[in-house]
Amino acid sequence: MSNYTESIEKLIEMLINLPGIGRRSAERIVGYILNASSEEIKCLCEAISKVKENVKFCRLCNNLSEEEFCKICQDVRRQKELVCIVEEPSDVAAIEKSGSFHGVYHVLLGVISPLEGKGPGDLRIDSLIQRIKQGSIKEVIIATDADTEGEITALYLTKIIKPLGVKLTRIGVGIPMGSNLDYADSTTLSKSLESRREI
Ligand SMILES: [Zn+2]
Repeated sequence: MSNYTESIEKLIEMLINLPGIGRRSAERIVGYILNASSEEIKCLCEAISKVKENVKFCRLCNNLSEEEFCKICQDVRRQKELVCIVEEPSDVAAIEKSGSFHGVYHVLLGVISPLEGKGPGDLRIDSLIQRIKQGSIKEVIIATDADTEGEITALYLTKIIKPLGVKLTRIGVGIPMGSNLDYADSTTLSKSLESRREI
């Protein structure tokens, strides 16, 4: 039996559904909410709603954006002939933080996962092929995670991109086997991009 009131217990239950939040963290968040002013909580709720209403995927690269095209795709200083393929928008954020990449991205919005029943058709691969076929891309860097699913996805992408005749590379050393790109620190990410090898 919980010692909390019904509405607190309901909130804790909902918070536990969030990634990385256990019961202890949920209880701490509830404590914060109870101590915060009504104005602060209103701002928090509005911020959540705004993200949900305004943020969508970039029409070209599938990165998060509040406009038709994301800031990176719109930036004339970026090298449009160099495309880095990543699994999720959080990977774009991690690489951008490292400041070592000046090309553009293609976000797959997932990864091939036989265990979860996710195949190539569940990823944004068709639009990637379209982009490459348009002819202005010179190099494609595969920067999927160094875990099993990331490697399966990289193999699949190699098989379908290689015949298109662009230079194809895979990010190199530094990202430990089995780890996620967005957990790597900026220096590791920079080195990994620098040491990419042709496949
Ligand atoms: Zn974009």
